[in-house]
Amino acid sequence: MKLGEGELRARAREAAEQYRHCLLCAHRCGVDRTRGSAGRCQEGSSVFLAGAGLHFGEEPPLVGTRGSGLVLIAGCNLACAGCETAEFSLLRRGVARFGEDQLAGLFLDLQQRGAANLNLVTPTHVLPALRASGHGSIVLIGSTAGQRGEQGHSHYAASKGALQSLAMSLAVELAPRIRTNLVSPGWIRTPMAEGALRTIGPLVASTLPNRRLGEIEDVVNAVLYLSSDASSHLLGENLSVSGGALLVVPRGQLQPR
Ligand code: SF4
Repeated sequence: MKLGEGELRARAREAAEQYRHCLLCAHRCGVDRTRGSAGRCQEGSSVFLAGAGLHFGEEPPLVGTRGSGLVLIAGCNLACAGCETAEFSLLRRGVARFGEDQLAGLFLDLQQRGAANLNLVTPTHVLPALRASGHGSIVLIGSTAGQRGEQGHSHYAASKGALQSLAMSLAVELAPRIRTNLVSPGWIRTPMAEGALRTIGPLVASTLPNRRLGEIEDVVNAVLYLSSDASSHLLGENLSVSGGALLVVPRGQLQPR
């Protein structure tokens, strides 16, 4: 995708309007960030980055074969006590300002280098600038546990269920330039699940309509579909990659029938 200069300028103006009365996160400060640091996050309207590049330290479905396009954004609206990215998120060490055109160039460069996705760290407070820098597709990774609940893993099921609500909300908030959808895998043969699947894998597979466990490629293909223009009319969808698990153990049912 190539944005003309006029289109880029129009988007930058539109983004600046959102910074004039900032309601970007749940703090809803209503301050004018174009006049400098303001609000609970103490952020102005410029985007500062601590770095960017291909990253292989995430789970295999997020990394694909050529890496995840990691973009480290300075500043944050949360200020969690145990922040593991505090060096640049809160202390802003080693960060540099990026304009919308530079951001667009950076994203396209990551795409050309084969990044499976854009992996934006702490982007909420700069969403208007990201929106101004181009079109995009956000794909969140949920779980069938979030779609039907899961006894003994209520914390996990609740957080994955929250992602479904987040996807639906963001889909409306960020449209039309950014689409948001969710992929919800069932049991997938990943290094993390290997131990559990050695014990329960054959039993789980025998309950599924297609009689097999999911592979990492099944999830990657779903993410690629939702990231591509082939899914351009899909917003806020929750795509289950589970071999039909929800058909045999739907919400509220404990065992396959
Ligand atoms: S992004 Fe910052 S200024 Fe805007 S509402 Fe959130 S905390 Fe307040």
